[in-house]
Amino acid sequence: MKNILFVASECVPFVKTGGLADVVGALPKMFPKSEYDVRVILPNYTCIPWEYREKFQYVHHFYMDLGQRFENVHVGIMTYQLDGITYYLIDNEYYFSGWAPYGTIRFDIEKFTFFSKAALAILPVINFKPDVIHCHDWQTGLVPVYLRTLYHDNPFFEGTKVIMTVHNLKFQGIWDINTFKYISGLPDYVFTPDRMEFYKDGNMLKAGMIFSDYITTVSDTYAGEIQTPEYGENLDDVLRFHNRKLCGIVNGIDYDLYNPGKDEFLYKTYNIRSHKKGKAANKMALQQELGLPIDENKYMIAIISRLTEQKGFDLIDWAMEGIVDPNVQLVVIGTGESKYENMFKHYQWVYSDRVSANIYYSEERSHKLYAAADALLMPSRFEPCGLTQMIALRYGTLPIVRETGGLKDTVLPYNEYEGTGTGFSFANYNADEMLKIVNYSKEVYYDHKEDWNKMVIRGMKEDFSWDISAKKYMELYDRVLGIN
Ligand code: ADP
Repeated sequence: MKNILFVASECVPFVKTGGLADVVGALPKMFPKSEYDVRVILPNYTCIPWEYREKFQYVHHFYMDLGQRFENVHVGIMTYQLDGITYYLIDNEYYFSGWAPYGTIRFDIEKFTFFSKAALAILPVINFKPDVIHCHDWQTGLVPVYLRTLYHDNPFFEGTKVIMTVHNLKFQGIWDINTFKYISGLPDYVFTPDRMEFYKDGNMLKAGMIFSDYITTVSDTYAGEIQTPEYGENLDDVLRFHNRKLCGIVNGIDYDLYNPGKDEFLYKTYNIRSHKKGKAANKMALQQELGLPIDENKYMIAIISRLTEQKGFDLIDWAMEGIVDPNVQLVVIGTGESKYENMFKHYQWVYSDRVSANIYYSEERSHKLYAAADALLMPSRFEPCGLTQMIALRYGTLPIVRETGGLKDTVLPYNEYEGTGTGFSFANYNADEMLKIVNYSKEVYYDHKEDWNKMVIRGMKEDFSWDISAKKYMELYDRVLGIN
């Protein structure tokens, strides 16, 4: 039996702000129970819905040293079982209360310093000795650091290996070194340029990667891109230096959660054979719900996204006039930077019969839109993996993407001569290039409907389940454990 421990700051169905939560929610379930004991450690946020929190069971509590200021910090341990996975939730109201998992960066740095140390501290208490600790993103960056420093001589962790998966290199957990020393209690020798120091500050993700036995990221292309200055977020030199312990493993999507044949959020479920009727019914019902003209022949383009610079909304701003001709309906569901929220609200005001700006987070509406739309626009500046385009394909909605990161690895551009491809793509971060490909997609949609429908079927047939990627993680676990 191999003991695998996931440590993460979000996880479906408890708490989600982005794709990270989908991954941490889905991947642990993919390992065969006969061979793997997989457990997951999360913060016990008070923003986790009460329907779950009321079922969390108390295990134990103790007090932990944390840095120079805090000698006795409360660490509560709660537990919960779901779909055969054991979750541990670290309780501390000071750090984990509030209506969202993240707040101001200074407090988040301290919050996840506490979380990272507590994640290791609870293991002897619950008597779970991991063979591999699998960390996710900067919030867990100090887990490998504590493991290899303050916990180095602890016999409980003898032989334990640690892997860091980078879901987005943009977020690194950077703060000044003196504060880090003060709140973490980590020894001075950690704060050198070859370890945690980063342009005179401390960097949790950098340290996490350096102290890990292996680094993964969420697509092959992104694994290559982040070793270049353009995408490396000032860590490209570190990643080049460590590139023998770096690889890309593309994410999958949860096929139970995203299944147009069974999705209870949809007005009408459908499958490959019934996609034309099913999608038309979903489109018209959504048009009615959103107050758009009801017409199944409108070309409905969806955007389902965090509204941040990363996702390429500047290009959409530039090209908007060209995108929304009278045949198009652009439906946005997203929240994020007020600049982009206001931008879409503005366009809804200007083109009230063509643009629907839904500035909120709604799992239900997003599923309805995946089913209703014809295309999904995702012109990301960079995209580590991206789940949205894979979900869209599963719902017969063709992605229009920029060829970067995971978008490049999962969307095959349409080739009208060979009759291949599952979507549309463009190479450079340029509004004209994007508009050209959006217009091309419209042309295929209206003038070559049969080809369009064939492409929809090819997309729906693609395998984006976790099977292949989970196997790659299992091989990686074996590799770091020195098995074969
Ligand atoms: P990222 O992790 O960068 O946010 P991904 O494409 O990997 O992007 O994952 C985004 C996930 O969040 C998808 O499951 C998508 O459906 C969901 N999502 C994003 N914005 C919203 C929203 N406003 N309402 C519902 N779901 C959303």
